[in-house]
Amino acid sequence: MAFINKNTAPSEQKKRFIVQLFFASLTIWIGVQFYLFVNWLNSGGTTTFVERPPGVEAFLPISSLMNLYYFILTGHINHVHPAGLFIFIAILAISFIFGKSFCSWVCPIGFISELIGDFGEKIEKKIFKKKIVLPKILDYPLRSIKYLILAFFAYSIFSMSANALNSFLNSPYNMMVDVKLYNFFAHISLFSLTVITVIFVLSVFIRNFWCRYLCPYGALLGIFSLLSPNKIKRNSTSCINCDLCTKACPSHINVAKVSTVISDECTTCLSCVDACPVENTLDVKPVFTKTQKVDKKYIGFVILIIYFFITSIGVISNNWQNNKSKSVYLHLYKKLETIEHGTRSVSFDVTK
Ligand code: SF4
Ligand code: SF4
Repeated sequence: MAFINKNTAPSEQKKRFIVQLFFASLTIWIGVQFYLFVNWLNSGGTTTFVERPPGVEAFLPISSLMNLYYFILTGHINHVHPAGLFIFIAILAISFIFGKSFCSWVCPIGFISELIGDFGEKIEKKIFKKKIVLPKILDYPLRSIKYLILAFFAYSIFSMSANALNSFLNSPYNMMVDVKLYNFFAHISLFSLTVITVIFVLSVFIRNFWCRYLCPYGALLGIFSLLSPNKIKRNSTSCINCDLCTKACPSHINVAKVSTVISDECTTCLSCVDACPVENTLDVKPVFTKTQKVDKKYIGFVILIIYFFITSIGVISNNWQNNKSKSVYLHLYKKLETIEHGTRSVSFDVTK
């Protein structure tokens, strides 16, 4: 058994931060491109055209899940938001291989949540001299909220036939859902702003409030992650019961008391592994092996490879850009504007 100084142990947290920063920057770039595209729509097509970035479909997980289910039922990909489908598959694949790692390595909301949590922790330590952790009696029922939201969407989607899925996916609503989402934030109502502010404030004092209690996407990935063959495993023979792993876990998992972390809340952030001062005691290992381990320094790299490999298949196979022309977008945007301004009698027609 070899002891190493915790401070000299190579930490994956810097690497994770860089990966998170990369995806956050990519999201900002996509956001700017999409803003310019909506501006072009707003001008009625009179300004310079800016291509709609397909990456925006990463924010349409429900539409993507419907597309995936449609693909499973029929073998065909719906081409209204095809990029979303590939991004969704990439995220599921990452979750299957390395648990809910999407949340702690890729998701920009998870990244913001983490930064807010770090900031909150400093305040809590100053004011209360300790981290605030909700008691189990509140934590468990709150954690079930995201599963209830997920169950609602799952029931609605999986009870649809292929025909019903196809008509929804081809509907003007689905086609313009990204623009609607943009409008939601661009012209945010006082009520929505209040809700977001409340979630923000709660996230300062309760780490990952949105992710832990409300995010249905995280709930889906949490379920998927339970099937993952790679888990955090503790070697109880060499463990010195210092509890540093438990203290380091942002998901409040009692790592020091289990031999294998089997939890829908584990995001493979590796904070516990980095915190462990004893070599070969806490590692990511395939579930069915005792000695073999996954070298933690490759985990971020593998996540990036999976993500870009699967999304590249979408690009190479011509399933990335959607099949809607500029004139269809302009036509639907005009109608969307009319509807959003209250003339509910106007109906969309995607074929025009
Ligand atoms: S158990 Fe370890 S890897 Fe999982 S969330 Fe906690 S600190 Fe991160
Ligand atoms: S596994 Fe946890 S409790 Fe055991 S030595 Fe490592 S950090 Fe300490």
